Amino acid sequence: MPAGSTRTPVVQLENVSVYFTKKKLLGPQATVKAVDGASIQVGRGEIVGLVGESGSGKTTLGRAAIGLQKPTGGKVLFSKEEGQVDIGTLKGRSWRQMRSHLQIIFQDPFSSIDPNMRVFDVLRIPLLARGVKDRRKVEGMVSDVFGRVGLPTDVLSSFVFQLSGGQRQRVSIARVLLLDPEFIVADEAVSMLDVSLKGDILKIMKTIASDLHVGILFITHEMAVARVISDRIAVMYLGNVVEMGSADQVVGHPLHPYTQALLQASPTIDPSLREVLRTVNVKGEIPSSSAHPSGCKFHPRCPFAMDKCTDNVPELKEIEEGHLVSCWLY
Ligand code: SF4
Repeated sequence: MPAGSTRTPVVQLENVSVYFTKKKLLGPQATVKAVDGASIQVGRGEIVGLVGESGSGKTTLGRAAIGLQKPTGGKVLFSKEEGQVDIGTLKGRSWRQMRSHLQIIFQDPFSSIDPNMRVFDVLRIPLLARGVKDRRKVEGMVSDVFGRVGLPTDVLSSFVFQLSGGQRQRVSIARVLLLDPEFIVADEAVSMLDVSLKGDILKIMKTIASDLHVGILFITHEMAVARVISDRIAVMYLGNVVEMGSADQVVGHPLHPYTQALLQASPTIDPSLREVLRTVNVKGEIPSSSAHPSGCKFHPRCPFAMDKCTDNVPELKEIEEGHLVSCWLY
């Protein structure tokens, strides 16, 4: 049972694994363990930052959390008024009804949309899918979400190609809000934006969580972004959550050597914190997802590795209230 959140969960991932088979021209097939037994819970109105390097499995875990990726093992539970439902068991109409409540915002949401579409038509499509056809009603709903994302309604007549990066991300958030979400995965949603636009979008996401009680899993490779937006932070390494706690715990008192290294590498980290961090000189690059090291997967890169780290997998255990880490140092 994932620990750490005191809020009513909206989505709970229990020991989720996602393995892929990689075909090779020569030699045996390889198994890619993109996610390898991860447990995370996101509460209603809560933002959980999911942080890690490229190749850590963050995006695959996020896709599994909204049913876009079927887990190889474990469960994704969505809480409804009637109780929890395993989204992997839903099919047909019941899945389609559930689907609109589980949404995703991408880094560049318009990469797959015809740039010659007008913004109003882009937004009308999800409403048609919800059975909302009356134009005045559509206009009322669109105007409401445009207020939330800080866009003037004259943008509705613009073509997609005419929008700036910040406007595009606001439109993509508006589109998701029109689907009445209860849980949103934001996958590197601000990583293509400059600093001031990033701040604006992060504020919008926080307001959505607090005002609409939407749970958000905010995927980012930037610890500084996770610190600003998250109530809790989960740090992922090679398919596993290696540390989880409140944003203050993880950023102010990081326990796992990998978290410490991520914080040290963060350019905007508080200088006073830099002094209290041990010097963590991480060796090498993140290994391939098809060649996980034995024991603690971080051991080949960890400056504090001990003999037992090579063969024994440390469990994710609670060190202080709500603060969990998987490392033999604790
Ligand atoms: Fe380093 Fe060992 Fe802790 Fe892994 S378990 S992070 S190798 S000290």
